[in-house]
Amino acid sequence: MAQNIMPHKLTLIPGDGIGPEIIEATKKVLETTGIKFEWDMGIVGQVAQDKFGTPLPDNVLESIQKNKVALKGPVTTPIGTGFRSVNVALRQSLDLYACLRPCKTYHGVPTHFENVDIVIVRENTEDLYSGIEFARDTLGSASLAKLILETTQIKVKEDSGFSIKAISETASRRIVKFAFEYARANKRKKVSAGHKANILKFSDGIFLAVAREVAKEYPDIEFEDVVIDALCMRLARNPQQYDVIVLPNLYGDIVSDLCAGLVGGLGVAPGANMGDNIAVFEPTHGSAPKYAGQNKVNPMAMMLSAAMMLHHIGETKAADKLENAIADVITEGKNITYDLKPNHNQPAATTSEVADAVIEKLNK
Ligand code: NAD
Repeated sequence: MAQNIMPHKLTLIPGDGIGPEIIEATKKVLETTGIKFEWDMGIVGQVAQDKFGTPLPDNVLESIQKNKVALKGPVTTPIGTGFRSVNVALRQSLDLYACLRPCKTYHGVPTHFENVDIVIVRENTEDLYSGIEFARDTLGSASLAKLILETTQIKVKEDSGFSIKAISETASRRIVKFAFEYARANKRKKVSAGHKANILKFSDGIFLAVAREVAKEYPDIEFEDVVIDALCMRLARNPQQYDVIVLPNLYGDIVSDLCAGLVGGLGVAPGANMGDNIAVFEPTHGSAPKYAGQNKVNPMAMMLSAAMMLHHIGETKAADKLENAIADVITEGKNITYDLKPNHNQPAATTSEVADAVIEKLNK
């Protein structure tokens, strides 16, 4: 294996819940690939809130801006009260507008389908996730209801709350372009754009019009658009017909979990949040607090995210070797965690045993 002279400087965010244990397992595995790393540790979430008075300290953002690449464990978002999602704040502050989620079947994972290899490209910055909301019984919701009545003659119920869906041409264009560029660079054949433009004419309508326009710039790649409900039905019946799927934020969130389910669950679903110059690699799953500290959960989604990171930093050989080592461990079936067993109550390997098994394959 080629040795790097200069180490790659990267930001490492362990996160919380199961984050620190899957990051530890992944770091060990990465350090066995022969590639050298210099880690800049970033503390976020509740621990940072308690220590520094903010869940997302500036020094973490500055570290990622400087290094351009981060590997991140999941971070818990308090429900109802407390700080807003660190994960969303990171994506917004660094303008990580594209969420890339490959969903691929690995031989040995119990699934209903074989040979699925889909990449979800989710818009990350707008749509219903912009945070523009008006609680019921407030001046904001009353004013909005008044504006709606005056401009559309539609009377919304007085006890309504509002979450605003805004879709722009600018954000739609850059995400669709990202999907086509990704398809071209990774020798993918087809891009499908999911939408509900038949009903949401002025928001999804923009996304669809832009997707059709951008598709013309890529005649080498097949393009289709598909209404979101039909897309879900077709994915559940015949997922092999899909290749790259580009989606606005909310549909992207839902469809990426759907596709993770098609290929065996969150334990094998990696991801990346990418901007023009910065990329943060993290699994699709969250911090699963009920399993924290038990050395029980599957570190493979985190490791596969690390393999995506290796590709991104140009360490393609090491990336392929790591992915193959993980695939071999799954196929062998001896050192896999509970979630990859046909029955979750069967004896299963621990998080650290999975790391050891992957390391053994890498050392072969
Ligand atoms: P979750 O993904 O954390 O867990 C849901 C369930 O999936 C778990 O109970 C577990 O059964 C299973 N699971 C998840 N990861 C697994 C793994 N690696 N191996 C085996 N099984 C696994 O979703 P949640 O419970 O909805 O969220 C928990 C917290 O994580 C919340 O605070 C949420 O906001 C946060 N979250 C963070 C991120 C992120 O950091 N990017 C993403 C999603 C959710």
